[in-house]
Amino acid sequence: MEEKKHKNNFIIFLAISGSFFLLIALFLYSVDPFENAISAIFAASGLILLLLSARWLIKRAYHHGKKKRVGVFSLTCDEGCSIYLTEIFNKKLLEWLEKVEWVYFLSIKDKTEIKDLDVALIEGVVTSQKDKDDLEKIRANSKVVIAMGTCAVTTVPSGQRNRFNAKQLAEIKDHMEEYHFLPKALALKDVVKVDDQIMGCPIDEKKFVEVFEKYLK
Ligand code: SF4
Repeated sequence: MEEKKHKNNFIIFLAISGSFFLLIALFLYSVDPFENAISAIFAASGLILLLLSARWLIKRAYHHGKKKRVGVFSLTCDEGCSIYLTEIFNKKLLEWLEKVEWVYFLSIKDKTEIKDLDVALIEGVVTSQKDKDDLEKIRANSKVVIAMGTCAVTTVPSGQRNRFNAKQLAEIKDHMEEYHFLPKALALKDVVKVDDQIMGCPIDEKKFVEVFEKYLK
């Protein structure tokens, strides 16, 4: 959001500077029509700045009209949050379909492309090297990453092995080695930058709608 504000300010700055340069060019030309070289430099600079700001605005308008590409991902967990999301769909899906293209959501479709995502909603904990690699790939291909559910935010409850005592850890040692489990289950923020979070086990509906819809504007 902050970045968007800076970009808007920069576009306004370019447009104002461009207009100002054109006015100086007109003024110089009206004062002394024979000083064409200086007024031409100001006119050219002004035009370049105005063209740059126009290009940014056109690009912004194009992206504004496009549907947001959203992916829903499950790391290690019972997938309760994404199942609950399909419950929320009962009320919100028709409205969201006008703004959202669901490009990855294995509970409702089998297409598995992870590319150019505007928003990634991720549930579960990072418990294996595969989870870690998957999460890093999602992060690299997403503008916004949202941790969905308390597992993704805090590791609880799916990362309960973090609280095991020595005896319990010895009992699962072979299993951990066989599946290349990490020494500790990690929350998303322990591995990648997370932009927002939704608490709840499963997610709180009101909070989900409030957070998710921020990124559909
Ligand atoms: S937060 Fe709860 S419902 Fe969501 S994935 Fe974890 S255990 Fe399942």
